[in-house]
Amino acid sequence: MSEAAIAPSIAPSIAAAPAIAPLRDFVTAFARLLDEHPDEARVITQGGALLRRLVSRDDWLPEAFAQPDPTRYQQFLLHADSAERFSVVSFVWGPSQATPIHDHTVWGLIGMLRGAEESQGYVQRDGRWVPDGPALRLQPGDVEPVSPTVGDVHRVRNLYDDRVSISIHVYGANIGAVRRHTYLESGGGKPFVSGYSNTLLPNLWDRSAELRGA
Ligand code: FE
Repeated sequence: MSEAAIAPSIAPSIAAAPAIAPLRDFVTAFARLLDEHPDEARVITQGGALLRRLVSRDDWLPEAFAQPDPTRYQQFLLHADSAERFSVVSFVWGPSQATPIHDHTVWGLIGMLRGAEESQGYVQRDGRWVPDGPALRLQPGDVEPVSPTVGDVHRVRNLYDDRVSISIHVYGANIGAVRRHTYLESGGGKPFVSGYSNTLLPNLWDRSAELRGA
């Protein structure tokens, strides 16, 4: 992405529109899929295919939503459906940053955009949370589902200790405003509401450049 495409002060309406188009196409296609009232399995397969296409290229995420923070991983809201049927988030992981063990309570799709991360599923056994099989390693272009049906509790970490990793997540709710839980391996749980790291959203809807160019 060129400097001009990411600097709003230079020419926002012209520079931003073409770069963000893959994200706009994704949210439009995802809303269309949900309009058909698919069951969760279809959301995971067909929505997963849409997300795989989105993360198969790494030229559309504005720099403002790709910024790590030295203290903790960032969760930038990129789009929320107007009926809050789904939300799209960029997770930006600084070197070695990790989540606690946590749940989602709704379906989710994790698409790896840049770098690599590890997702370790957990199951409850005798009151403790124990690893559920081997950890998954996600590379750019990979998509992994989570949900109360297919496995909802995991822990995620940046596989790199020397660079930023970024994944794009889609959830079946406005995920920053969902009551969820973090867990200790010893079994204790704590409620949390994640919120978001940003207050402003990317502008998906400026089509002026394509109209002027036509
Ligand atoms: Fe998660």
